[in-house]
Amino acid sequence: MQILHYPHPALRRKCSIVRRVDAELRETISEMYELMYEANGIGLAANQVDLPLRFFIVNTAGDADEGEELVFINPVLSQPEGRGEEEEGCLSIPTVYGKVMRPTTIHVQAYNLEGQPFSAELSETLARVVQHETDHLDGVLFTDRISPDDKPRVDLLLEEFAVEFADRRGRGEIPADEDIYARLDEIQQRYCAT
Ligand code: ZN
Repeated sequence: MQILHYPHPALRRKCSIVRRVDAELRETISEMYELMYEANGIGLAANQVDLPLRFFIVNTAGDADEGEELVFINPVLSQPEGRGEEEEGCLSIPTVYGKVMRPTTIHVQAYNLEGQPFSAELSETLARVVQHETDHLDGVLFTDRISPDDKPRVDLLLEEFAVEFADRRGRGEIPADEDIYARLDEIQQRYCAT
């Protein structure tokens, strides 16, 4: 398992509803936590590790020994309120940061690792992270919502990522788009069959 970098096509995949929480999914989530902490992140969505499924993990402390590990499966956001601009970054676009305007409070409904539904009113950092991660599941990146002030600078950095991605593909390190799409389709069918 590895964290995919922009502009990997899996990051643009609209993820599928998870139909069951099983031992394999729990193992996957535990591996995702290790990767997230190694990368000094506070949130990680499934399609950032090549799984086109609707779940993400969060620990706003960014440390296994601190904070709270939260798993959001099939999250649904509603009742956005307020507006605030804060700097964001993303493990799939490392070293790139920019301001993003988002609602400051949000209601979330989701399932936890036991498959139990829960809901919560979120504010501050947790509200922002949950919105950033839910965007991932819809194939949306924070750079799509970047403030006009930061957009020219961030666009230049994204071009560098695109060049690096093309180089890696040229070296055979990244499969062709059609092979990536076929693999994503296969996973979505396997996990999401009713
Ligand atoms: Zn991200």
